[in-house]
Amino acid sequence: MAQQVTIVSRDQWGAVPPKKVTALKGLAKRVIIHHTALPSCKDLEECNKRLASIQRGHMTDKKFDDIGYNFLVGADGTVFEGRGWGVVGAHAYGNNDDSLGIAFMGNFNNDTPSKEAISSVKQLLKCGVAQGHLQPEYGLFGHRDLGQTECPGTNLYAALSQLNEK
Ligand SMILES: [Zn+2]
Repeated sequence: MAQQVTIVSRDQWGAVPPKKVTALKGLAKRVIIHHTALPSCKDLEECNKRLASIQRGHMTDKKFDDIGYNFLVGADGTVFEGRGWGVVGAHAYGNNDDSLGIAFMGNFNNDTPSKEAISSVKQLLKCGVAQGHLQPEYGLFGHRDLGQTECPGTNLYAALSQLNEK
């Protein structure tokens, strides 16, 4: 049986309610990996503050309905619920309707993704397939594959193939 991944829920990190929730039509076909391009966070307290600040930025400055990503992961491998499963995100312009957006917290032009974060995201994707949120043959992309951006940073982009290893 697949090892479960622990997800810190919106309530646990103190998310404010979304302005609107749009359900994905069917299973997600693609996973798009991002970085937050902000400093990483090292413990729950710091990560919770960072998440609240990202959500504020997305909802207030960018006028999104909610934090843009479906999930975020900290350097210690803790996974945080963003919009969660089955919800259309706001993370890759023109590519949100059939995908899930997962953000590694940090700036991976400088940082190197941790083994813990990579392993947690692999586990999260397995759970997504097992729980029927994600197509078994999903496509995995870095944001830069789909738009004019450096995201998810050079070092994380170089590590993406590790997410596909069994
Ligand atoms: Zn991105």
